[in-house]
Amino acid sequence: MRMKIAELSLFQHDLPVKDGPYTMSYGEISALDTTLVKLVTDTGIVGWGETCPLGPNYAEAHAEGARAALGAMAQALIGTEVLPLAAHRAMDGALLGHGYAKAAVDMAVYDALGKSLGLRVAELLGGAVTELVPSYYAIGIETPEEAGRIAAERRAEGYPRVQLKVGGRAPEVDVASIRKVWEAIKGSGMRLAIDANRGWTTRDAIGVSQACADIPLVMEQPCASNDEMRALRGMLRHPLYMDETSFDVSTVIGAAGTGMVDGFGFKLTRLGGLQRMATARDICAARRLPHSCDDAWGGDILAAACTHLGATVEPSLLEGVWIAAPYIDGHYDDAAGIEIVGGHIALPAGPGLGIVPDEARFGAPVLVV
Ligand SMILES: [Mg+2]
Repeated sequence: MRMKIAELSLFQHDLPVKDGPYTMSYGEISALDTTLVKLVTDTGIVGWGETCPLGPNYAEAHAEGARAALGAMAQALIGTEVLPLAAHRAMDGALLGHGYAKAAVDMAVYDALGKSLGLRVAELLGGAVTELVPSYYAIGIETPEEAGRIAAERRAEGYPRVQLKVGGRAPEVDVASIRKVWEAIKGSGMRLAIDANRGWTTRDAIGVSQACADIPLVMEQPCASNDEMRALRGMLRHPLYMDETSFDVSTVIGAAGTGMVDGFGFKLTRLGGLQRMATARDICAARRLPHSCDDAWGGDILAAACTHLGATVEPSLLEGVWIAAPYIDGHYDDAAGIEIVGGHIALPAGPGLGIVPDEARFGAPVLVV
């Protein structure tokens, strides 16, 4: 049955960080301002989406900007067919850019479409290749001893990969931290990435790579610009991954097509939603480039969307699905909330995203169209 969007509501919700704050090269996070989109179709089916910028200074996105952008596009979405490309065309016609806001509508469309067809979002995205999606754990900026201790714990839990945040301090301390983490996971088969979140100079990146030449790690987004990333090519002793500067599908095509990087950290909301992420996934498959399927924080809806996409990625190319669940308190859906168990995430069983949020937790909507 063809369906149209009949109603859109926006909710604002504060996600508390567990045992916070969480530290990265550019700052600390103690609570996240997330935005939920509730879409109701003309057949009465409800779809949910979410976008949760990691504070205002992580990316060119912020929570109030997401709500303003969604408000600006809402009217154009009413009467649009509940199909991903139709929704993107309606949104692109109403507002240029703001992919992080469009991602929430994209998710809600997939959720409603899946529910109407009795299919999970992973099926709509081409089909799941696993029911147990690998995750990875991100260790914040810690002392070398603490980082090593956390890595050993995650190894024991069964995580297939660990990512260590670096930058924002003397590179020698980061090198000591990398060595402690490697000592803790060496021989286990657990993979290691180091992530400066753009915080290093090319000098720092080259220096750390040389100092850790004996450790098989991948270096994720060491520097802030793609010019610097390009300058690093051939200077590193390690594979180079792009995260924050893969702004959209066009950047991904350029980076993949020119061999600029060896892999990607993908964020669902940065690329503009599941539809765009599926395109990026297919570009990476064509060039054999590994990548993750993450988002920058968010609750059960975002975690479910990342997990569904991750389940469709060829396993040898999936670097894991990072979700914020271990770092935040509580769920939207007590029965089917997304959890990491043994370093893996079970793909939700229900139709659509498989999450039925308890709407009462979000309070009154901030906008209804
Ligand atoms: Mg990253």
